[in-house]
Amino acid sequence: MTPFERRTRRAQSRLDAAGADALALSPGRDCYYLSGVEAEQSDRLQLLVVPAEGDPTFVVPTLEADAVRTATWVEDVRTWNDDEGPWPTLESLLEELSPSRLLLADRMWTRFSLALREHLPDPDASVGLASEVLGPMRRLKDDAELETLRAAADVADAAMRDVRALGTDAVGTTEADLAAYVEERLAAHGGSGVAFETIVGAGANGADPHHASGDREIRPGDPVVLDFGTRVDAYPSDQTRTVVFDGDPPGAFRRVHEVVRKAQERAVAAVEPGVRTGAVDRAARSVIEDAGYGERFVHRTGHGVGLDVHEEPNVVAGGETELAPGMVFSVEPGVYLPDRFGVRIEDVVVVTEDGAERLNRTDRGWRL
Ligand code: ZN
Ligand code: ZN
Ligand code: ZN
Repeated sequence: MTPFERRTRRAQSRLDAAGADALALSPGRDCYYLSGVEAEQSDRLQLLVVPAEGDPTFVVPTLEADAVRTATWVEDVRTWNDDEGPWPTLESLLEELSPSRLLLADRMWTRFSLALREHLPDPDASVGLASEVLGPMRRLKDDAELETLRAAADVADAAMRDVRALGTDAVGTTEADLAAYVEERLAAHGGSGVAFETIVGAGANGADPHHASGDREIRPGDPVVLDFGTRVDAYPSDQTRTVVFDGDPPGAFRRVHEVVRKAQERAVAAVEPGVRTGAVDRAARSVIEDAGYGERFVHRTGHGVGLDVHEEPNVVAGGETELAPGMVFSVEPGVYLPDRFGVRIEDVVVVTEDGAERLNRTDRGWRL
């Protein structure tokens, strides 16, 4: 049994408890999670329908059928042609299932979700969100997912080592040049595209946590925030380092970097099963507060990482999610001093039986 089929069977066994009869998933992360089909939503309706019992069915436009059949373990693939549209095929499937409660992909286009509601054969039928069933499953990564997340992190680490190896050669290039180099190295090490827009923030630009790399030149003494990620087999990486390529950084930088590094260490050390996400956030935040920079740590300590780069659980102040083995999230405290510089250090970690496994292992220091 493939991991995709295994997940589908588990999802089916959980539908009952959610008071639902079936899942209807448009192309996207949830659909990939169960089927292995990686596709984007388009104006042509495509659905994976998973009933509580029996086998799932794909309903796809004829021109996508071969690609879907090649990518998935799902055997029942029904097609529709442009001249007839999807509804005759879908209506007969919905008639067979006659769901009283149907769970729809959270990110299905509104026009499709409204149309699906109208086409439910039972007039008293209701709809809900697929995340009711898939959210708790996706939060706990299975072995196949962990292996892929490790591989994605290794690619990011290899690219980070290449960036550090630039040394003083990076001085005089622009943020955008450096971002292009990062992306070239990610691809060279086996990554596929970027998981999010590559962030290279030099000097004062580093004080904007989501700075878009621009034409600012990297100068001696600039702290440079590098936050980037790629994908391997649909799973992303996400890591950040703050380095100085040449010269002496501003006086306060050394201390701030030390504080952020300690905050990150403390937060990772706090990770173990049973601990709440809020306690991990506190571990990082208290170090930064004690150093007097509490108001400059303007975001949560981390976010879940899985098929989505940002997913549950959030590592946020007051967060009540209890950590359990198999959860994966980033630990990324930062301090941002407007008009001066920013420092962020980020690794993705996995909750293990007795602590945390860091997926990113490159040097966290600012010196090359
Ligand atoms: Zn972010
Ligand atoms: Zn990041
Ligand atoms: Zn992140």
